[in-house]
Amino acid sequence: MEPCADCPAISQATIGVITGAIGGWGRREAVTVAFRLWVLNMQSIQGSVLNHLVGRRRGSSPDVSFDQRYESWAHRSHELFDLASRYIPGGAGSSARTVKFGWRPYPPFMAEGTGSRLRDVDGHEYVDYLLGLGPMILGHRHPAVTRAVADAIADLGTCFGLPYEMEIDAARKVVEAVPGVDLVRFSNSGSEVVGTAIRLARAYTGRRLVIRFEGHYHGWQDTVYWSNHVDPEQAGPASRPRPVPSGPGVPAELAGTIIVLSWNDPESFAAVMAERGDEVAAVITEPAMFNTGCILPAPGYLELLREETRRHGALLIFDEVITGFRFARGGAQEFFGVTPDLTTMAKGLGGGFPVAAIGGSRDVMGMIAEGRYSHSGTYNANVIACAAVSATMDVLAEPGLYERQRALGETLMSGLRKIAADAGVPVIVEGLGTVFQIWFSEQPISNWRDAERHADEALFTQWWQEMLLRGVLFHPSQYENLFLSLVHTKDDVDLMLDAAEQAFAVISRPTG
Ligand code: PLP
Repeated sequence: MEPCADCPAISQATIGVITGAIGGWGRREAVTVAFRLWVLNMQSIQGSVLNHLVGRRRGSSPDVSFDQRYESWAHRSHELFDLASRYIPGGAGSSARTVKFGWRPYPPFMAEGTGSRLRDVDGHEYVDYLLGLGPMILGHRHPAVTRAVADAIADLGTCFGLPYEMEIDAARKVVEAVPGVDLVRFSNSGSEVVGTAIRLARAYTGRRLVIRFEGHYHGWQDTVYWSNHVDPEQAGPASRPRPVPSGPGVPAELAGTIIVLSWNDPESFAAVMAERGDEVAAVITEPAMFNTGCILPAPGYLELLREETRRHGALLIFDEVITGFRFARGGAQEFFGVTPDLTTMAKGLGGGFPVAAIGGSRDVMGMIAEGRYSHSGTYNANVIACAAVSATMDVLAEPGLYERQRALGETLMSGLRKIAADAGVPVIVEGLGTVFQIWFSEQPISNWRDAERHADEALFTQWWQEMLLRGVLFHPSQYENLFLSLVHTKDDVDLMLDAAEQAFAVISRPTG
């Protein structure tokens, strides 16, 4: 069957899953999954017929609004969204999944995921570049990780309130992989470990000030929930911005504990360190900025952060919640060759299971070891988390895995550049293969202010809409990313490029 624009590569997905099943699963599981996929494929084909009816044939341009097309695409999702909204604020479990954050007119509801593919409740299959906003580094339901977790629950239980052997195994693998981590503690979410890292840095240095950067996101704790996607009018000059809380409820008094700077700007950083470096407890940064689309560090910038923090006795915290395990098993710190004092990790760490970690030098983490700093949590290092970490770290140890997937991602990125250029749409495709974003901009973007000023949000939205309805899923905000898992294949990439060609043909059409 030749895949059409509306039911892309159904047959490849089925074949992929069955192949995986034969390799890693029992025969009964394989047959069950194959049958479910067949049923869903039939639903998907029905969905695609519907799409043809609304005029979305290959190469054609939409003659009805996105909302109308989406209504017939996501009919069941609409019903579920109405139902969910009766019980769940915004109809979804996290604000990033809501209408307010771009899932307009309502988010598609998902039925299941396997490998690089997701299926929605209306029967459409997507190549998944959302990947749960990062954690599905091994795709959905990776057999080895799923089995390890299920076995651990069956054999051990879930939570002891005491240490156990599998926890050592998980910790050892992280310590051996991540250069800046001599000791590690497992926890439950990125926000939680960032909160710990900030307080630990203050406890260790006896100082109060924390430097963070505009456009980065470090979770929702009061100490760091400042100036994420800040309005420049409120924040003032880029060379010395004022801290602005990212939402209501953050105590204004905390503004005195934080310095906000523009990222990738060596001058303003060096100037602040020269002035106040000896008061600074920590500088926290994403080593590559993935919470404002994708912005890579300028050459020498991370090294500067390292030198200056060391010179002034401040700690450098790499928030590797997104970058960790993404383009190298040892995280961005291995990739860029800059070692921080503390590292926060989550997302990829558990291969899709909820777990986070704080790790760091023996010296700093020694405060926890010696009981001078209390890091506690009922669910810390529970069995599900540690089984997931241990199995994920094993899968990530496959020789050549990262090189192969980064190269695949680069193929995708350069393919997108070419398609956009052929369509005459100026874009910047920035990233490191397995995480990237497209900026609809003619100007270079190196920090939040550039993104806010130059990136064309309306065009991004149109591109997202066209891609969604062609079975390619990613977040509707240009300030999020596209993630490529370590199990995405050349077929997935080809499918996206094919869809992109059609989408760019639509969005490059003159309007009016
Ligand atoms: N740090 C970074 C860099 C993140 O991207 C996020 C979430 O996206 C967090 C921290 C917060 O993690 P969580 O959502 O697990 O609390």
